[in-house]
Amino acid sequence: MDTARIEDDIPVVSRPDVLVAGGGFAGICAAVAAAEQGADVLLVEGFAELGGAMAVSGVSGFCGHTRGVGRVFDEIIAALEEARVIAPYHPEQDARAVETVYVGFLMQEYVLRKGVTLLLHSRVAATHRDGNVIDTVFLHTAGGLQAHCPKLIVDATGDADVALSAGYPTVSGSESGGAPLPMSLYFSMWDTHCEQTPWLPPGCPRYTPETIPMTSIHRHENGRIDVKMKVIGHSAVNARELSDAEIEARRQMMGLVYFLQTEGYGGRRYSTYCLSSVSPLIGIREGRRIIGDVVLTEQDVRAGREWEDAVVVGTYHVDYHWPTVLQRAGTGITDPVPPYHIPLRALIPRGSENLLVAGRCVSGDQMAMSSFRVMATAAGMGIAAGMCACLALREGCAPRDIDVAELQDMLRRNGVILDRSWHSIYQQERRRRAVEATAKTP
Ligand SMILES: Cc1cc2nc3c(=O)[nH]c(=O)nc-3n(C[C@H](O)[C@H](O)[C@H](O)COP(=O)(O)OP(=O)(O)OC[C@H]3O[C@@H](n4cnc5c(N)ncnc54)[C@H](O)[C@@H]3O)c2cc1C
Repeated sequence: MDTARIEDDIPVVSRPDVLVAGGGFAGICAAVAAAEQGADVLLVEGFAELGGAMAVSGVSGFCGHTRGVGRVFDEIIAALEEARVIAPYHPEQDARAVETVYVGFLMQEYVLRKGVTLLLHSRVAATHRDGNVIDTVFLHTAGGLQAHCPKLIVDATGDADVALSAGYPTVSGSESGGAPLPMSLYFSMWDTHCEQTPWLPPGCPRYTPETIPMTSIHRHENGRIDVKMKVIGHSAVNARELSDAEIEARRQMMGLVYFLQTEGYGGRRYSTYCLSSVSPLIGIREGRRIIGDVVLTEQDVRAGREWEDAVVVGTYHVDYHWPTVLQRAGTGITDPVPPYHIPLRALIPRGSENLLVAGRCVSGDQMAMSSFRVMATAAGMGIAAGMCACLALREGCAPRDIDVAELQDMLRRNGVILDRSWHSIYQQERRRRAVEATAKTP
């Protein structure tokens, strides 16, 4: 294969203690947790706003237990509560709904208040490694390429972009070579109270009740509906395929809007609704994951395994969506699991000396990831990664060589509850029903 390298004459713009790549909840929490420990932190986000999938893909609620994640996440929830854009805490419910349109604003104000330097519209394009240390991160910015030389890096890109660019091994899809989890596009429609003229452009699918893609509709009291529509057959970590996924998703969307206006769905016709907004980025359930010092497995998650170097508690059920079935055919595998530990070693790419990973791209098999990818859990990983980075800086060692007990102590002092049993209130009811259903099975 032909290769090319980034030239040497790119200006070095900053030398922060910690560079956090990716401004989803993993990245926001990592950046704030590190800044609070006194680190000089640069948070880099490719889009125009913070909030990750919630801001740019329309994912409209936190799954995973939203309590005991840590004080930083408590502050985020408090900011959303103050703005009255988050649903109340009900641990027996799957998700805590959020009005996503406010998230970018609220999160930028939050991180700036905490002293984080924020660089939007900037993507990690490449890295340079000296041995196992990444000494330079190249950003593609509005002003061209820039070089930044951080001491430590947290990769919270959702797709392990930094780890990949530094040459650390990554995986995507199932362990047996199966496809990655499917994507979904979110779009909204408004009730105009006037009959619309349905339009099915050429090349867009004409759906029947049997052929429409799996669709979920969330109705708001103000006349808006948010539609989530499944898209299959593409990998989010292949440039051609991701581009094709976006193209196909928008064709599907035109077909689905036409279907909703003409046929309706769930016993309701949407003949007076018009398309009002479309998420700029298709929802990506699975990108790349690192291979860490520990690979968290489905068995670990299902068994509620404890780890000595636990830094986060995962609480959400396994949530595997059939990757090759477009229509609603049962969502997939959604088995409740007991609260389980996520060990620090799953956040550390094998062989790396100054890189931590947080969020859905940490090290685990596909089924484990289907659980730990949710945003409250990603936030918890961010807090752990940010604090671990600071401890490593203070001790002058690699993240894997820090004193784990000291990190766990810091986490506890900052509101992180690592006691699994404390979290069992979350989805207790769901787990109880699952046990009852199993007992009744002849
Ligand atoms: C359809 C769908 C429905 C879902 N439903 C829920 C739900 O109800 N509740 C829930 O909690 N979770 C849900 N999830 C999962 C959840 O949204 C993600 O797994 C979660 O957002 C992961 O958080 P993160 O911080 O790791 O990554 P992300 O939220 O994806 O954030 C990563 C950020 O990094 C940025 N980035 C990427 N590459 C670069 C780069 N090279 N340089 C700079 N920045 C970069 C991105 O722009 C993004 O802002 C859903 C996901 C999908 C797709």
